[in-house]
Amino acid sequence: MFYLSTRGYHNRQKFCDILLEGLAPDGGLYLPQTYPQLNTKDFSRLRDIYNNRGYAFLAFEILSLYIDDIPSADLLALCQKTYTAEVFGDQRISPLSTIDGNLHILALSNGPTLAFKDMAMQLLGNLFEYELQRRGEQLNILGATSGDTGSAAEYAMRGKHGVQVFMTSPHGRMSRFQQAQMFSLTDKNIFNIAVQGVFDDCQNIVKAVSQDLAFKRKYKIGTVNSINWARLLAQVVYYFAGYFQATADHSQTVSFSVPSGNFGNVCAGHVARMMGLPISQLVVATNENDVLDEFFRSGSYKIRDSARTFETSSPSMDISKASNFERFIYDLLKQNPVKTAGLFSDQIAATGSFNLASDPEFAVLKNRFGFVSGKSTHENRLRTIRHMFSTYGQMVDPHTADGLKVAAEYMTPGEPMIVLETALPVKFADTIMQALHKLPDVPEKFKNLEIMPLRFEVMPPDAGQIKSYIAMNCAD
Ligand SMILES: *Cc1c(COP(=O)(O)O)cnc(C)c1O
Repeated sequence: MFYLSTRGYHNRQKFCDILLEGLAPDGGLYLPQTYPQLNTKDFSRLRDIYNNRGYAFLAFEILSLYIDDIPSADLLALCQKTYTAEVFGDQRISPLSTIDGNLHILALSNGPTLAFKDMAMQLLGNLFEYELQRRGEQLNILGATSGDTGSAAEYAMRGKHGVQVFMTSPHGRMSRFQQAQMFSLTDKNIFNIAVQGVFDDCQNIVKAVSQDLAFKRKYKIGTVNSINWARLLAQVVYYFAGYFQATADHSQTVSFSVPSGNFGNVCAGHVARMMGLPISQLVVATNENDVLDEFFRSGSYKIRDSARTFETSSPSMDISKASNFERFIYDLLKQNPVKTAGLFSDQIAATGSFNLASDPEFAVLKNRFGFVSGKSTHENRLRTIRHMFSTYGQMVDPHTADGLKVAAEYMTPGEPMIVLETALPVKFADTIMQALHKLPDVPEKFKNLEIMPLRFEVMPPDAGQIKSYIAMNCAD
């Protein structure tokens, strides 16, 4: 299996060649040259494997379709090391629970940081360690976070050989829980940098450092952002696991509702569907930052700058430029790299928008790809959290609430609707308090988190100083 860029670059790269890379050299995103096609026999085989041997074996089977440059025994060992009941709190890793009739929730948030990003990031940590060791190389990961991504990355990379993490975050602006989660790590390879500024300052620092190519090469700077293909691939697995739990055999179709920001999670659903998984609808749920909903309703994709991005009570979806969206648009345009590059590197760069309303591909989008969309506001979230608690006794986090709200608009009689749970309520206690006038339960392993000693470095928003800090502390 070779990988190519959505904008046309291809150089016969294999999975491990692109594993440690970010964007392709032409600015596009990597995709496999084809999506493997599964038939009815394959699906019953995978269903048996999932039912009899569990999530890690299912992950191994799906990953094997895309990875042919890691020996099978090693890949299986990596999957088994990653997807354990110990790390994910349940033998099934992503258990499905039925709320009411055909409405289900797929639990994805029982990993170390209590958000779904662990599902992919934990595997990424093990893949990075494996590949770096194989090459005898080191990597210094530099990132910016306002919460979820940073902690998932740190918990995935802590203690790993060959990897160090330098994570910038806006000083004093993360929730207490998220700050405690990251800053209480004492692993020698984790460096928390609290930048005296806002999240944009952190992102600008990362950009500035990455644009200094000499520094980047000398200090082997890498990233773990959501455009990484390995992360997306790891997420494909739980669409299969959710499907197998909700259905008895391959004749049944299901829909998934996905709280969305950077379009990574739901793009994994798109990949699963392209492989033949019987998904009828992929419901893209956004919050007030609704660029994706706007596109699926109208064909017009208009990115917004940070001044026009709302701070909402589902903060991990406060995104107005969906970094994985180009992967879907490439498929929508019949995998035409010239047209894709025209939209993303020319039109978006020049005007911040493109419009496919009159493109014949847009007219058949829903039938060909199953995508539908909707939007949820703060009021909707509060109402959904209250409804879930009073009717079913179940506490859901604000992001999952967005998914539930929009799912309700697309329920079809007789067809399971699976809402992806993307975080646990404990991470967003303020909103839960506002909705329910009570605090969420704190899982046992986090009971002492907020009284643990914190370890972080406060620094001004100055790329130069951060570079010296990395140079001083990096592995060589
Ligand atoms: C990252 C995140 C999302 C958005 O997922 P995308 O892959 O960016 O679409 C939704 N909810 C939570 C809790 C997240 O952490």
